[in-house]
Amino acid sequence: MQPPSASLLSPSHLTTLVFAGLLLAGLALRLWLATRQIRHVAQHRGAVPTAFAHRIPLAAHQKAADYTIAKARFGLLEMALATAVVLGWTLLGGLDALNQALLSWLGGGMLQQLALLGCFVLIGGAIDLPVALYQTFVIEQRFGFNQMTPRLWLADLLKSTLLGAVIGLPIAALILWLMGAAGPLWWLWAWGTWMGFNLLLMVVFPLFIAPLFNKFQPLEDESLKARVTALMRRCGFAAKGLFVMDGSRRSAHANAYFTGVGKAKRVVFYDTLLKQLSPGEVEAVLAHELGHFKHKHITRRLVGMFAISLAGFALLGWLSTRAWFYTGLGVQPNLMLPGLPGAAPNDALALLLFLLAAPVFTLFVTPVLAQLSRRHEFQADAYAAAQSSGGDLASALLKLYEDNASTLTPDPVFAKFYYSHPPATERLARLPVALQP
Ligand SMILES: [Zn+2]
Repeated sequence: MQPPSASLLSPSHLTTLVFAGLLLAGLALRLWLATRQIRHVAQHRGAVPTAFAHRIPLAAHQKAADYTIAKARFGLLEMALATAVVLGWTLLGGLDALNQALLSWLGGGMLQQLALLGCFVLIGGAIDLPVALYQTFVIEQRFGFNQMTPRLWLADLLKSTLLGAVIGLPIAALILWLMGAAGPLWWLWAWGTWMGFNLLLMVVFPLFIAPLFNKFQPLEDESLKARVTALMRRCGFAAKGLFVMDGSRRSAHANAYFTGVGKAKRVVFYDTLLKQLSPGEVEAVLAHELGHFKHKHITRRLVGMFAISLAGFALLGWLSTRAWFYTGLGVQPNLMLPGLPGAAPNDALALLLFLLAAPVFTLFVTPVLAQLSRRHEFQADAYAAAQSSGGDLASALLKLYEDNASTLTPDPVFAKFYYSHPPATERLARLPVALQP
């Protein structure tokens, strides 16, 4: 116990102060950025930027402005809610109350720890439900993007919850077991397990999980197939297959992606993308994705993720042994003295507190990662322009901006902070084509 005179500066109080301060500072920062974005987009709603005036109709520009503003306004509410939820779990005692209730019901053991994780996920999911419903059936619906019926939405929800339990509970149990049984270096074992699990998921996801939600059919358009195959050969790639996914079942937004690792790699086009773009434009979009591989962006991102998780697990390993980590975040740690009645491990508590607290700190790294990502996008664009056609890439980007109602006039500060892809003006300006009528 701390003597009362030192209580104001105890590590526990300091933790509370730093956590609450950064949580609120983060909220203020995000609210400020979103307000800037809303104001900037509204101010430029009246006219298409000159560089795009001959390509984008005013009505499309205004739809993009209204869509961006609608999403950002709702985002303000979401941020406030998310902050309240984090406070509710931590300093206001939600996690502590849940832990105590489960302890008195189940006693202290693996079952109680898994129940704690499970309840936390379910309660969080239930709080997010109205948010997700509003996003899909009000905002996306109003702008003509939503294609989901309430029935499909519910089926998705049930499927993903079940899948989450089937996959999530065993891996959670394994990590909790390692935390308790693998000694002081448990975090190294847990990290290895977590990385292995992620690699396995990359192989399993396209083959077994994605097909539970979408239909994948081999690309049938022979001329497009020939074109895409020629491009891939030119760039030195072999893929396991070219597939079309029925993305239009859920949304009118278009996309294309690579999935899988090593030899199991496949190219997936959304049907919506093939509908919106010409064959040349599809090729250019694919060349951009190949550019990410050629420049080793995917590998580097993976290695970065490995390193960050290692640091995260090491930090968790240290924090989980400090009483102030729990008390400072509003939780009374369980008694660990062996042989004492009521003794229970703190592993699940430590995991959850870490997951709740980490974003409060990582928010401030967002602009660094976004900047790195934008640099990668420029490199992939340049690769696509060299291997395919810069003109096709430019017109594909314009079409995608228009069809997805992405704004051409984001607030510069907002874009610098968040945007993983450079704003349209910057991307097109770097392509070796002048967008003349
Ligand atoms: Zn990209």
